[in-house]
Amino acid sequence: MGMKALVIVDVQNDFCPGGSLGTERGADVAAAITEYARGDHGYDYVVATKDWHIDPGEHFEVWPVHCVAGTSGAEFHPNLQVETDEVFYKGQYTAAYSGFEGASEAGESMEEWLTQRGVTELDVVGIATDFCVKATAIDGLEKFQVRVLTDLCAPVADEAEAFAALAAAGATVQPADA
Ligand SMILES: [Zn+2]
Repeated sequence: MGMKALVIVDVQNDFCPGGSLGTERGADVAAAITEYARGDHGYDYVVATKDWHIDPGEHFEVWPVHCVAGTSGAEFHPNLQVETDEVFYKGQYTAAYSGFEGASEAGESMEEWLTQRGVTELDVVGIATDFCVKATAIDGLEKFQVRVLTDLCAPVADEAEAFAALAAAGATVQPADA
């Protein structure tokens, strides 16, 4: 049987209330992920992604400046208290919505990292449902079985449309406790 990983997408201060691109439910979702991760859900690995911008060009014309590398806005929200096995950084010099565009500090891509460890199933949670969670889950479907845990995600705007697109693409879309 394959290994199973929890993928926590972009639960960073700038994407939570008070941040430059805060989602309404970001801090609540950070706490809910912490609570969820304390339970036993059979994960072999827990990984996280960070939007991590140095000079992402027109990405900062499309969105307010956010998640600048090394700033407090780019740190994980304090409500997120989860031990991670690896963190993948994305978007240094260009927009990067999918965690699969990211790499570890050692330069390993998320796909390499997961496949080398025998991971076949991903549960994806985090921020924002309609952007980076969606893009990460859609990319993940190319190589993995993917579930998106709806109550552990926070949207910028239209969550229902994102969940419908994810289901149509082949992801299982359900609440964490289902
Ligand atoms: Zn960004």
